[in-house]
Amino acid sequence: MSTYQRLLAAGIRLWQGPPAFPRSLQLEWRFVIVRWLGIGIMTPGLLLAHLGSGRTVAGYAVLLLAAVYNAVVQVVLLRRPAIFASGYITVIGDALLNIAMINIGGGFDSPFYYLLFTATISAAMRYGYGPSLATVTIFVALDGVEGRLGRHALDGIYVFRSGFLFITVVLAGYLSEQARRAEAALQERLRQADLLNRSTALLGASLEFERVLHAVAAAACRLFDGASVALRPAANLAERAGIEAAAIEHPCPGTGEAARAGLVALCDRYAGAAYRPREARDRLGARERLPSGEQALVFNLALPTRPTALATLAVGLPAGRPAPALDPDILDSFVERTTLALENAGLYRTLASRTDDLQRAYSDLAIAHQELLSVDEMKTNFLANVSHELRTPLSSIRSFSELLLSYDDDVSVQQEFLGIINQESERLTRLVNDVLDITKIEAGQLHWDMQALDVATLLHDSARTYAPLIQEQGLTFRREIADDLPAICADRDRLQQVIANLLVNAMKFTPAGTVRLAARAGGGEVRIAVSDTGIGIAPQDRERIFEKFQQVGETLTGKPKGTGLGLAICRDIVAHHGGRLWVESRLGAGSTFIVALPALPVAIPTAEAALISAER
Ligand code: ADP
Repeated sequence: MSTYQRLLAAGIRLWQGPPAFPRSLQLEWRFVIVRWLGIGIMTPGLLLAHLGSGRTVAGYAVLLLAAVYNAVVQVVLLRRPAIFASGYITVIGDALLNIAMINIGGGFDSPFYYLLFTATISAAMRYGYGPSLATVTIFVALDGVEGRLGRHALDGIYVFRSGFLFITVVLAGYLSEQARRAEAALQERLRQADLLNRSTALLGASLEFERVLHAVAAAACRLFDGASVALRPAANLAERAGIEAAAIEHPCPGTGEAARAGLVALCDRYAGAAYRPREARDRLGARERLPSGEQALVFNLALPTRPTALATLAVGLPAGRPAPALDPDILDSFVERTTLALENAGLYRTLASRTDDLQRAYSDLAIAHQELLSVDEMKTNFLANVSHELRTPLSSIRSFSELLLSYDDDVSVQQEFLGIINQESERLTRLVNDVLDITKIEAGQLHWDMQALDVATLLHDSARTYAPLIQEQGLTFRREIADDLPAICADRDRLQQVIANLLVNAMKFTPAGTVRLAARAGGGEVRIAVSDTGIGIAPQDRERIFEKFQQVGETLTGKPKGTGLGLAICRDIVAHHGGRLWVESRLGAGSTFIVALPALPVAIPTAEAALISAER
């Protein structure tokens, strides 16, 4: 940095003065510097004025006085600036120095008169019209006194210079007044902008809709210095946010007043009104009076680009306080910021719910995909099982028929082989029937002939058919069918198929003992139980046996082979009737299969029921 630059920087620093000084004292400081400059110019300048030795000495004495005065001002200004706050000390000091200098320089009629312009302009700039006009009046009066004393003529020149001094001071006063006003307006705007920033600072803190509503209300409390606020989201915004389009009440902190009902009513009244941003009424808020007497301001919060408001805001002011005179631009900015915050919160809510929907759809899709995969796997297993089950009787039929062809002499062996072939064909037929049944039931293609029927009749029929077969096997058959069974709505043939399947199973898996068919009503249901004293089912197999092709335990030794589809078909049929089928069993002690079917509200006596009871 060159010496010149260093000097310049020091000069600028000197001109600016201590940074902590307020504006008025900063001006006072600069006048100290201007005074030093004036003294610096006048010191050689006095020699050039050819005043004669006496007056020159007096002039330097005044300059010395001025230097001492200025040094004292500078020191005191730094240590106790409050003394200069009013400014009168320096105005009077400057005026006296100027008068002294003029007297030494040859009076008001001399070129030293120009010194007065600096004193009067500086007073006008610092303190406006009052003190500066007072100073000018003193100067003009002293000028007049001098004229009266005959030191110069009170002619046109006197009038001219006095008038000129007055005009200069008025002009300087006017300019400084304007500058002061502009600065005050700027300060006020800055204050309001700062207030707006602080009030709306928390608007972006959350995107959660209810929180944003309260943040908008809190911002209004602060900006308008309100007592209480009500805010009502517009219907379409509330719908997007998934809340009710009702006004929220927000008491402003510190006022200790509950929200006034009048504000909510105002919100409701203004809600939906078209927004007219060009009208002062809408920009500055509509002024209303609450039933309780206080003033309220109502705003429709809308973006300038959209005609419909997103919300209506009503601000109640504390009793006896007028509405704050906020700048229209500040209000516009407040409306814009709060509206954007509400719009963003609404969009966020929409986005969040769309994301939820998407996630739900995605997980539904994943479940459906999983189901499809397991259906596909089930189908593959089913086909594998069916073909396996078909192959066993078929190969047995084939081998025995081949053997039969070569055994043409021995009739008893031929009979035995024919018996086996017949048994295997029956098994094949059963299997094909079962496969057809289950496929149709699961595809929903089975025709159901649902009708009210007397379940006792149906059970007695089954008992009559199967009792001889059971007894043939050396087993005891017992029937315990209650007389008062209510009617049920069912497909007779399908229900009979279920009972038959359960009875045949009981017979198959009971080496010795009893098979029992029982039925009773209770709890709006008819419960049919098929029990046996057979081999029983292990706990871990009690659900598995209802799955397709599941045959468990070593149950099949010496018994006619089943298909493993019977119980799966039974459960599907019972489920179609709105009922349940389950098993209770003890391994080695026997099993009870229970079918629970919903009863029809009133028992319908049928002709068949009457016949059966007559028979018994
Ligand atoms: P299956 O044609 O093989 O009888 P089911 O579906 O009717 O087919 O029965 C499946 C399996 O459940 C049977 O193979 C057997 O292991 C078991 N099961 C069914 N009923 C009884 C019962 N009363 N006692 C013991 N086990 C049984």
